[in-house]
Amino acid sequence: MLRTIFKRSSISLLLFYLVACSPENEIKEYSLTGQTMGTVYNIKLVNKSLDEKLLSEISVAIDSSLKQVNQKMSTYITESEISLFNNHYDTTVFTISSEFSQVIKEAQRVNQISSGAFDITVNPLVNLWGFGSKSDMRKMPSDIQIKAIFKIIGSEHIKFVDENTLKKDIPELEIDLSAIAKGYGVDVVVGVLNKFNQDNFMVEIGGEVFTRGKNIINEKWKIGIDKPKYLALPGQDLQNILSISNVGLATSGDYRNYFEFDGKIYSHTINPKTGKPVTHNLASVTIVAPNCMQADALATAVLVMGIEDGLKLLESLENVEGYFLARISLSEFEEVLTSGFDKYLN
Ligand code: ADP
Ligand code: MG
Repeated sequence: MLRTIFKRSSISLLLFYLVACSPENEIKEYSLTGQTMGTVYNIKLVNKSLDEKLLSEISVAIDSSLKQVNQKMSTYITESEISLFNNHYDTTVFTISSEFSQVIKEAQRVNQISSGAFDITVNPLVNLWGFGSKSDMRKMPSDIQIKAIFKIIGSEHIKFVDENTLKKDIPELEIDLSAIAKGYGVDVVVGVLNKFNQDNFMVEIGGEVFTRGKNIINEKWKIGIDKPKYLALPGQDLQNILSISNVGLATSGDYRNYFEFDGKIYSHTINPKTGKPVTHNLASVTIVAPNCMQADALATAVLVMGIEDGLKLLESLENVEGYFLARISLSEFEEVLTSGFDKYLN
């Protein structure tokens, strides 16, 4: 997983280049990379020769769709839909786009099934701990500060009046979609590639992934799972390699975005019940699900819930599997898998 903050920058490097080609059948792999949501995206397309005009059309469509996602869901853009909602210090109705509605609905569903572990209203806590758009440094808040914030959080305070209308019942309520929007962005790009009739591709935004069809060597796509080591770079030290196709995959971890205080590590995933970063030894959770938005939200939910409750939740869900890495020492990790995860391990 890359660093996951959801910043303003959305300058995309529109760059399709040929990465590999398989001479027997003239299948080629094209790669597109750029920046969105404060992180990097990587797209690989496997196909027979694609002409330059088509490649350029695809890249323009992807870039514009990601800009739209950012414009709706980034708290780093003052006039984004989410910022307008957060600044609507009122309990009157607020009209939302259908895309925003889709993401909030999924967030609320995951909040319910995770018994509140996933909660997009934790934004004031995220900022208090120094991980949000309104904070410039990581810091230790006091218990009094945390307690005060409990009054203005809770997903039950957001209500759908109808499909495209939301209502807060606490004016100060704010939301943060960082734990679900990258997954949603991946699904949006998948939609664009489907429209262009692409059958073999891998889409990745900041470590959240969806793959379709086969890779350049006609196998399922191979996705590496990092060892959740503090300070290691993505891909530097892999714990495992998964073979996946036609599913979304997301990893949440405590090892990329964190700070240290008095010898203790505090990471950016907040337990809404304690108001504090999660403290157990679960270092990373990887979820495979039918789409990436679901995988993304569930990965954060399960990281909050811990191994036992997380396993119970995942086993109760259809077509969802999970892979947990529990920290034994700084460089040793124990793997815990849901009952159907084996099929993704080569
Ligand atoms: P990771 O890849 O580790 O899951 P994400 O960026 O996807 O990282 O999600 C973490 C972000 O989600 C945090 O930086 C914060 O903005 C937000 N967040 C933290 N705790 C929760 C929670 N319990 N429920 C929903 N969102 C959360
Ligand atoms: Mg995530």
